Amino acid sequence: MILTHPDHDHLFGLLEVLKRYEIRNILWTGVIKNTAELEEWKKLIEQEGANIIIAEAGQRIDLSENIYLSIIYPFENLEGQGTKYINDTSIVAEMVFNDISFLFTGDISKKIEKQLVDKYIDLDTDILKVAHHGSKTSSCLEFIEAVSPDIAVISVGENRWGHPNQEVLENFQQFNIEILITRELGDIKVISDGNNWKQF
Ligand SMILES: [Zn+2]
Repeated sequence: MILTHPDHDHLFGLLEVLKRYEIRNILWTGVIKNTAELEEWKKLIEQEGANIIIAEAGQRIDLSENIYLSIIYPFENLEGQGTKYINDTSIVAEMVFNDISFLFTGDISKKIEKQLVDKYIDLDTDILKVAHHGSKTSSCLEFIEAVSPDIAVISVGENRWGHPNQEVLENFQQFNIEILITRELGDIKVISDGNNWKQF
């Protein structure tokens, strides 16, 4: 289980998952936010008896023989730290399965996207989970160009903030990247054998 950052829309559902399922491995940043939800999270993950990993760039977590998760952000261990910009503490991870890779970006802003472009020579990924529900605060052109995914997946429902932002959609279209939106398609499933992938 991965908690990218402890905002309500990312944390709330995981509390139910923890109650209902037995989780063996939990990856989060340990970042502090003063909410009852996060207190419950801390209590539940302690009770779960799971292996708890504090995410930090440079970690490689083997998921199976040919699949691993590479943590590329946050750049340092944030355990016990508080911040006003909780979105910018989101875990960014690349999942690699032989030739095929997926980039998960949480809710990072353009500022962090630019830092990633500066720090990593190769961000090229096949499938991108677009940052922050397609909001205008994310998906700058430099980042889209560096990642140059085949498809961009936007996880978003009905909301009052206007996500996904029209300009963001145009940024992806400019690079001929196919956009898939959960609000229109429901669950988006990508299946891969490590050489090719298929979406349905
Ligand atoms: Zn979010």
